[in-house]
This record gives sequence, structure tokens and C-alpha cells, in this order.
Amino acid sequence: MSTSVSSNIVSTNILKVLSLSPEEYRKRKVALISGITGQDGSYLTEFLLEKGYTVHGIIRRSSSFNTGRIEHLYRDSHEGPKMILHYGDLTDSTNLVHIISKVLPTEIYNLGAQSHVKVSFDMAEYTGNVDALGTLRLLDAIRTCGLTRHVRFYQASTSELYGKVVETPQSETTPFYPRSPYGVAKLYAYWIVINYREAYNMFACNGILFNHESPRRGRTFVTRKISRAVAEISLGKQECLWLGNIDAKRDWGHAKDYIEGMWLMLQQDSPDDFVLATGETHTVKEYVDKAFSVIGRTIIWEGEGEELVGREKDTGIIRVRVDPKYFRPTEVELLLGNPAKANKLLGWKRKVDFDSLVKEMVLADIEAIVLSVREPSSNELILDDLHVKLSTTLS
Ligand code: NDP
Repeated sequence: MSTSVSSNIVSTNILKVLSLSPEEYRKRKVALISGITGQDGSYLTEFLLEKGYTVHGIIRRSSSFNTGRIEHLYRDSHEGPKMILHYGDLTDSTNLVHIISKVLPTEIYNLGAQSHVKVSFDMAEYTGNVDALGTLRLLDAIRTCGLTRHVRFYQASTSELYGKVVETPQSETTPFYPRSPYGVAKLYAYWIVINYREAYNMFACNGILFNHESPRRGRTFVTRKISRAVAEISLGKQECLWLGNIDAKRDWGHAKDYIEGMWLMLQQDSPDDFVLATGETHTVKEYVDKAFSVIGRTIIWEGEGEELVGREKDTGIIRVRVDPKYFRPTEVELLLGNPAKANKLLGWKRKVDFDSLVKEMVLADIEAIVLSVREPSSNELILDDLHVKLSTTLS
């Protein structure tokens, strides 16, 4: 009985909004984000709330808390623009239809994914189910709800689509050659977005985003693994950092900059696909060097391949070693993006450079570790000792 009452309300709501023109409908500014609990989802939520959107997010049921990155965004519902969370999963079509028909979003950002490349080799089928078919399910849910003309759709495509180097820098016209189950799943998602755009006239865009990082990056991703380890080393809590392929080259930007690009894509007159990148590439080794320099230490590299070690100049202590268990079965050697189209048509440019990104990540990890230590007086001593003015550096 209660189910049929609630589905009646839902269909009444849909009928009401479908009587609006797409322009009137969009003025409601309602965003739905899959992957809201992730790095990008949390920054995007902050960004959209600032712009006056009501933000709905899909979260997975978990036996432990997975909302740490967005907890600061809860607000009393009487205080204006707000964030509302719904349990859901990209593997559950009925649930997606239900959420969309209830929320009636004007923009959907599909950021949800099994997003770890190395893990995708261990969980290839699951990665395909979530990253490839999950995108199809969301697009079909929009169609099922009769909202194809009303909703604008952003797909989190990735530079991992390029995989094996065919040309550099990589742009919207560079052929794809993915090198992981993650990349292959995202390739399906990329094409299904274009297919639905062409077949059903949907406003659907691919943002082909190169790596973007922040203090909110997951701790198993290489940049955050390094920044965390360097922070631990600076506080005497860890001696050595183990890494995989440290010669891999990546185009790293700051997640906050990339969020704005996602939103800009959905504000254009017509849907299109865009690369967001910095146009610079750095090796993992350079990231390590820069991260150690933030705490005033220099690393000297010795040896080759699996024997390569990074030794701290002043103390002679080995701080970095290579462990082949972190190598991927097929590696992406070089990513370097060309953001010229986004620069020109979206007016988008990255603001945070490589050095500032690394510095922010290391300092944020030092702060997080220090704040987790119990005695406040020893915290102050550690901070003084490091000459890190954390409260002013991190806003
Ligand atoms: P994260 O790994 O930080 O976040 C992934 C999000 O997806 C989390 O909220 C996670 O939920 C959610 N998720 C995972 N599986 C499912 C599922 N089955 N159903 C619904 N939600 C699910 O990724 P980022 O924020 O860094 O990236 C956002 C998107 O952008 C991803 O699609 C990623 O592949 C893509 N991308 C990222 C790049 C980067 O450099 N960061 C570069 C290019 C593309 P939970 O918290 O419960 O795990």
C-alpha cells in the first residue's frame, strides 16, 4: 500500500516537471552525483552548493563509515542549499530509476566507479559491471524516467583510455588503447555516452580527465601513498616507502581545478567531450623528490629496476625501495594531456601547479597525523620543529 502511494507521488512529480520546458526545468538547479563520497564527489558537492544547487548523492551501504569526505557538508535543511544522500549502487538498475524519478535532477555527474587501476586487474568483472554497465544503467534510468531532454549528464572518463602511447600530447582526437580492465571498462562508458547522445539526443558529455590529486585522494593511489609516507617519515613514524614503477610519467593536477571543468561542460550550448589536463608530465620519482623536499630532505637514487633505492642524503638511510608486487601486468608509461580545447571553448585552465599540489598534500598529511596524536603540547613541539605553519598554509 505505502509503495503504491509513494510511486503515485513520484509519477505525479514527473508529470508536473515534464510540463515544464527543458529551460524552465533546468532553472531548478538540482544535481545528482554518483560517487559523492569519493575525492571528486566531495569537491564537486562543495562547488555546487556554493552555486546554489541542491545536491543529491548516491552512497553505497557500507558496514563502516564511507562519508568522511562529505560529513562537513551536512546542514540543517532549513539553511538553504543542501546535500541529500540516497542509498544506491551502480549495479542496481531499479534503484537508479527510483532515485532519479524521486530527485528529478537537472544535472547528473557519474563519478561512481571502481577507480583503482591496479585493483581492476584483480576485480576485472566487477570493474566492468560498475564502470561500464553502471554508466549504461544510469543513462537508461534517465530514459526510463522520460527525462532525456531535461537532464544533462557528465561522465567521468579518464586519460587511462589512452593507455599505450600512440601520440603525445594526448587530445580529444588521439586514438585510445587502454591497458587495464579499468581503462577498457571506461572505454565502453565513453562510447555509450556518445551513442546515447547521438541516438536519443541527450545532453551527455565525456570529461577525459588526466590524473588529479588532493589531500582527499584515496590512500592507495600513488601520490597520496607518497605524501602520507613522507609525512610519517618526517615524524619518525615510518622508515621506508615501497613503490611500484617509479618511472611512470603522469600529468597531475589538483582535483579542485578539475571539478570546475566538469561543471563548465554541462553549461555549454551543446554537449561535447573535453580533455582536462595540465599539459605537463612528471615521473613518480619526481613526485617523490618533490615530496621529500617539502620536509627539507634530499633523496639520492642508486641502482636500477627492482634494485633501485632512494637514499636520504644527510643520513644515508634508505627511504624508498621498489616492490614488483605493485607493478601492473600492463603498464601505462606516459600520460601527457593537451587541454587546448577546454582552454578555448570552456575558458578552463588549471590554477594549482605541480609544486603547490605536492606541498599541499604533504603538509595536509603531516597535519592529519599530528592532530591524531593525543597530547596537544607534543603536537605543538612537532609542528614548531618542522617549521610548518599549517594553519595558514592550508585553507
Ligand atoms: P574515488 O575512488 O575517490 O571515488 C569513487 C566513488 O565511486 C566513491 O564514492 C565510491 O563509493 C563510488 N563507487 C564505487 N563503486 C560504486 C558502485 N558500485 N556504485 C556506486 N558508487 C560506487 O574516485 P575519484 O573521486 O578520484 O574519481 C571520480 C571519478 O573520476 C571516477 O569515476 C574515476 O574513475 C574518474 N577519474 C578519476 C581520475 C583521478 O585522477 N582522480 C582521473 C580520471 C577519471 P565508496 O566511497 O563507497 O567506495
